[in-house]
Amino acid sequence: MKYFEVEPATPGARCERLGCACGSAPVAAAESYLFVPSDCVNFRIDCPTLKQAQAKVRRKMNEAKARAGRKFMIIFDDTIPAPRLYCRQAAEMHGIDLKLAAADAAHWRSTSQAPYRPTPIAGHEAEDMSAHVRAATGCAILVAIVPLAGLAISFAAKLVT
Ligand SMILES: [Zn+2]
Repeated sequence: MKYFEVEPATPGARCERLGCACGSAPVAAAESYLFVPSDCVNFRIDCPTLKQAQAKVRRKMNEAKARAGRKFMIIFDDTIPAPRLYCRQAAEMHGIDLKLAAADAAHWRSTSQAPYRPTPIAGHEAEDMSAHVRAATGCAILVAIVPLAGLAISFAAKLVT
C-alpha cells in the first residue's frame, strides 16, 4: 500500500463530517476514524507530498481562472485534497468500514499519511488505487464556476423572498 502526506493530527482535532450530530466536537485518538474519499485519492494520485498538493491546487486555480475570464468567480472545494477525520457516530452514519477507517486514523496520527485507497463502505471490498497511477487531469477540483451576474441575481432573489 502506498501513502500520501496529510497535515499532522493536532490535539483537539475536530470531527469533519458536515452536519454530524456531535456538532464538530474534538475527537479522541481512540475514537478516530479517517474517511478517505475517492475524489481525494484521485486528486492526490500525482502529488504525494503536501507541497506538491498545494502547488497542484494553485496550478488548477490559475488554469480555471484563465479559462473562465474575469466575469466568473472560481469556487474551490478545499476539502478535496485531504481526508476527513470522523467521530464514531459520523463513521457509522456514513456506513464506512469502521475497522479500516480506525486503522487509517491510527496510521495518520502516527505518521501523517493516508492510503491511496478510498475508505470502503462496510461490507464492500477495498480498492488500492496506487496501482493505477494516471494523469489525473479531470478530477473534481472545481465545484463551481459561477457567472457573477447570475450570482447577483440569486442574491437579489434571496433578499426578495
Ligand atoms: Zn462527529
